[in-house]
Amino acid sequence: MGFLTGKRAVIAGIASDRSIAWGIAQAMAREGAEIALTYQSERLAERVREMAAEIGASICLPLDVSSDEEIMRMYESLAGHWPSFDILVHSVAFAPREQLVGRYLDTVTREGSQIAHDISSYSFVAMAKYGRSMLSKQSALLTLSYLGAVRSIPNYNIMGPAKASLEANVRFMAADLGAAGVRVNGISAGPIKTLAASGVGDFRQMLQHFASIAPLRRNVTIEDVGNAAAFLCSDLASGITGEIVYVDGGFHTVGMSMPD
Ligand code: NAD
Repeated sequence: MGFLTGKRAVIAGIASDRSIAWGIAQAMAREGAEIALTYQSERLAERVREMAAEIGASICLPLDVSSDEEIMRMYESLAGHWPSFDILVHSVAFAPREQLVGRYLDTVTREGSQIAHDISSYSFVAMAKYGRSMLSKQSALLTLSYLGAVRSIPNYNIMGPAKASLEANVRFMAADLGAAGVRVNGISAGPIKTLAASGVGDFRQMLQHFASIAPLRRNVTIEDVGNAAAFLCSDLASGITGEIVYVDGGFHTVGMSMPD
């Protein structure tokens, strides 16, 4: 019996089989959770439905997190299938591509900043706000962050402040929901080649550099992140909330490294 048997998980953020959310969905399904997937737009609907079928997930719902109405509609549809759920995974981020290449002050704009914060940070709050009446006792919310929240990273630009805001949201939401038994955590993942990541300038170089410095001397995978996510959203992690857990091969712990 898997350690998520009896849990129901809503997972937002699958765009392809490289998506971190897909690694999470596979790990959670393997551990016995029932899964509902959301997809951003009709363009992704068929692909996500096929992937849902692979892991025995029968619920697939549209969700563009930039709209409160759409978030509410998603929960209304979900309520037609499940009276409650136990896990919410928010694996969603976006900033206009031109914000993610070049020097920070040259590229950042008011509009780019608003979009990055809205889609990549506030949407996690909105999903919790409109979904909390359906959360069971002992439920867990999880989002995905990156080291750019706490360190400057070339080209990551406005996504750094947006992830810093997301990590602050994890702490505020954890404080708010803890008394109701709801835990809120984030995973700060190392770089992984996904659709979202390919928008960040010089990403391939970043992957190589990362693997040469990280104590594990390799890049992390969606399986690494998926397994950690399954643990954090399970009752095995019942004492952990308000936390950002690094799944980055130890990269963030290194102060200086010498060439091998
Ligand atoms: P991805 O492109 O596979 O996933 C990003 C998802 O965000 C997509 O499914 C996309 O549809 C969704 N999305 C964007 N705008 C949306 C909107 N308005 N409404 C609904 N969904 C929307 O890339 P990924 O790397 O798997 O990204 C998932 C999360 O992991 C993001 O928060 C990202 O910042 C984070 N992360 C990624 C890396 C990495 O290197 N890939 C590292 C650390 C953290």
